[in-house]
Amino acid sequence: MKCEHCTRKECSKKSKTDDQENVSTDSSSPAQEKEEASKHLSLCRPNVRPYCTAKFDLQTTETSMSLCPAGVHYVFDTTIAADFSILETQKEFVRRYHRHSEEQRELPMLTSACPGWVRYAERVLGPPVIPHLCTAKSPQQVMGSLVKDYFARKQNLSPEKIFHVVVAPCYDKKLEALREGLSTTLNGARGTDCVLTSGEIAQIMEQSDLSVKDTAVDTLFGDVKEAAVRRHDGVSSDGHLAHVFRHAARELFGEHVEEITYRALRNKDFHEVTLEKNGEVLLRFAAAYGFRNIQNMILKLRKGKFPYHFVEVLACPRGCLNGRGQAQTEDGHTDRALLQQMEGIYSGIPVRPPESSAHVQELYQEWLEGTESPKVQEVLHTTYQSLEPRTDGLDIKW
Ligand code: SF4
Repeated sequence: MKCEHCTRKECSKKSKTDDQENVSTDSSSPAQEKEEASKHLSLCRPNVRPYCTAKFDLQTTETSMSLCPAGVHYVFDTTIAADFSILETQKEFVRRYHRHSEEQRELPMLTSACPGWVRYAERVLGPPVIPHLCTAKSPQQVMGSLVKDYFARKQNLSPEKIFHVVVAPCYDKKLEALREGLSTTLNGARGTDCVLTSGEIAQIMEQSDLSVKDTAVDTLFGDVKEAAVRRHDGVSSDGHLAHVFRHAARELFGEHVEEITYRALRNKDFHEVTLEKNGEVLLRFAAAYGFRNIQNMILKLRKGKFPYHFVEVLACPRGCLNGRGQAQTEDGHTDRALLQQMEGIYSGIPVRPPESSAHVQELYQEWLEGTESPKVQEVLHTTYQSLEPRTDGLDIKW
């Protein structure tokens, strides 16, 4: 089966091979047919769903985009991958909090789910900042392992039989997918073969006779469909700040936080959240979105005047919904009306805490050999390093 709109060389080769193989499928066994039918996958991130819902006038957020007409066999939701990313971030924060001292500066911990920010940290800021980056992999990286390792084994497929496409809100996710180590699975496969932005998906749809339909998404667990769409807490992000804050308050101070109160400080892209008791600030978290706020944060970090324990850092002002791959007008500005519509849709999606997913708990046991096993470290964590700027034009100019 052809994935007609993919421009990757590997994909066109695969398409050709598929056609050749399809000629001979008359004599193939049911197992081979199953293998053939499982080559192309795609998935939708929670923060691209509002774009698709708005763009294609889908009716509710309880459903998701299906790309089946384009030769895609499964559509997954990445919320399960974000669950792992958040849970590992929570645990790492608590560990760092305990280890932190004047001599061993483990805090603030800075999130690492945004490739735009991580590339900037690695290429421009270097060693003073890199040790502060959380080592938990991003949802896209975790999803690569779930698909090419867990799902492949469940389906009796070798990873190279799977072509894994991610639909993302920004172009930075393409660079993240190319990164060796970050995006390589335990079996040595590339976790993500291709990233298309949601804007590119819309373009493909508009330029072809393909259509999008409301349908339940697949799960990694056999024929079961995803019961309902859920998102994590937070303002147009994967929700690391809110979930880590609640977990840390509970684990470190025995405090159960229901509602999180964000205080906008310098501007609406710099928020603060604190946990206070008897007039003392126990935890001070922040969200810093956009490079103006990131640069201010770095300036204060360098001066040793940065009072936060944890910062959710995102390169785009207003977060992932405002990613350049989906919320831009043709002249390169933010489409404010569309963004506002997406924010409304996003906030209407019910929140599900990552701890409450029974599938995630099962996967920790069945796939990762426990919540604290060496395999968890290998599959769900990574390392960062200072990198030289690229000379092939693929790097982003800040
Ligand atoms: S903040 Fe922007 S660059 Fe970072 S992951 Fe989200 S959309 Fe991509």
